[in-house]
Amino acid sequence: MSFSTLVLVGTCHFIRDMQELPVMATMSTLHFGAQTDEVTSLLRIVNLVRTGEATTRPEIGKVTGLGRGVVTQRIDQAIQYGFLRDSDFAASSGGRAPRTLRFHSEQGVLIICALSAQRIRVGVTDLDGNLQKHAQRKWDIAQGPEKTIKELFKQIDTILDQDTATAVWGVVIGIPGPVDFESGRPAAPPLMPGWNGYDIRTPFEQRFDSPVWVDNDVNLLTLGERARRRDANADLIYCKIGSGIGAGLLSKGSIHRGANGAAGDIGHVRLPDSTTPCRCGKIGCLEAAGGGWALVRDAQQAIDAGSDGPLATLAKKQPVTLELISIAAQAGDPDAIALIQQSASVAGEAVSTLVNLFNPGVIVFGGAIASAGELFLADVRQRIYERSMPLATRDITITLSVNDELEPLHGGVELALEQLFDVTFPRWFADGRPSPERSTVR
Ligand SMILES: [Zn+2]
Repeated sequence: MSFSTLVLVGTCHFIRDMQELPVMATMSTLHFGAQTDEVTSLLRIVNLVRTGEATTRPEIGKVTGLGRGVVTQRIDQAIQYGFLRDSDFAASSGGRAPRTLRFHSEQGVLIICALSAQRIRVGVTDLDGNLQKHAQRKWDIAQGPEKTIKELFKQIDTILDQDTATAVWGVVIGIPGPVDFESGRPAAPPLMPGWNGYDIRTPFEQRFDSPVWVDNDVNLLTLGERARRRDANADLIYCKIGSGIGAGLLSKGSIHRGANGAAGDIGHVRLPDSTTPCRCGKIGCLEAAGGGWALVRDAQQAIDAGSDGPLATLAKKQPVTLELISIAAQAGDPDAIALIQQSASVAGEAVSTLVNLFNPGVIVFGGAIASAGELFLADVRQRIYERSMPLATRDITITLSVNDELEPLHGGVELALEQLFDVTFPRWFADGRPSPERSTVR
C-alpha cells in the first residue's frame, strides 16, 4: 500500500469517527496539539510565508484553496501570535498592489554546536537560518561530556555577545557517533569515551530554556545537503570519509535513523578478504582499510620505508593527515594517489551494497576525502557502477560535497527548523514560542 493510500484511509476513519460524535459548539478549536482544519491551515500559512512559497494574501489563497475571508482571518491570527508581520507592497498585477507578509524571524535565535573528534564549532542563526556568528576551536572530545559542555557554553556566550534579550528557540548538537535521537543520548560512541548514555540535552535545556536536539554529525551533513539542493523529497546517501567513515540516509527527504540510531554506520561493515584490526575492536572493517586514520597509518609506513615524494616533503613540516594525503595526491605523489584509490575502491564497494538495497538518486561523498577531488571521485564512481545493479545506477548522481567547513552548522539549522515547524509546531504554536516540554519527545 502506498503512503498516500494510507493517509487517505486514516482520514476516512477520522471523518467517520467525527460524525459519530455529538458536535460540541463550545469546543475551542485553537488548543494545544489540535489538528483541526483551522489550526492546520494557520500553521500551513505561517510555513508558506516562512519558506517564501507564498507571501501575499492572494498568493496564499491560490496555494491553499482557502477563501479570502478565511485567509484574512488566519493571517490576523498568525500576526497576533507573533509569527507573521506585514511588510512591503508587492508589484501590482493590474489592481491595487497586495501587501507582502514576512516571517518574524528576529524574535528568536537557533544555536548549533558541531562536535568532531578534534574540534568544536558553534554558530548562532536567526529563525530563517541565516548564520549570524560562528566560532571554532581545537578540542579533544575524549575529555568527556562535562568539560566539553562547559567549553561549548563558553563559546556560545562569546558569540551571543551578552545578547540575553533574544529568546533561544532551538539548540542542535551534532556529535561524531551514534545517538538515540528521542532521548538525545549517545549510544556507545567509539570515539567518545565517557559519553555513552550521557544526558546531553538537559544541561542545554536548563541553560537556554529551549528545545534541544542531539544527532549524529553525518545526519546533520545529510540534512544540510537536502537544504542546499532544495530537494525536500530526496533519496540520498551522504558518505563522510574523514578520520572514520559514516553515512547518512535520506528516504523521500526524511532521515532514516534506525531503531537505535545506528543506521548509516557503514564504517564498520566487514570487507571480504581483509583481516586488518579496526579501532572498534573487530577486524576487517571498511574504515580500517579506507578511513582517514587507516590512510594516515599506511602513509606513515610508506614514509618510514623511504618514500620521498611530495608527501614525504610535506610531512617533514607537519603531521600527516587525510587532507595532507589528498593534497599530495593532487600534486602527483604516487604513494598518496595509491592511498586515495585504495579508499575509493573499498568505499565504493561498501556503498554499492547500499545502492542495491536503498536505490538512492544521489550519493554525496564528503569529509576530508573531498579535497582529493576528481582523483577520488572517478575511482569511487567506477567501483559503484561495477558493483551495483544497472537499474539502481541508471539515473544516479555521484558527486563530492561542497567541502565547506560550515556544512554541519547549515545542517543543524535544517534539523532545528524541521523539528520546530514541521514536526512539533501544532504542539507549541499557541504559546507563541517553543518550549522544551512541547517541542521534544519526553
Ligand atoms: Zn570497526
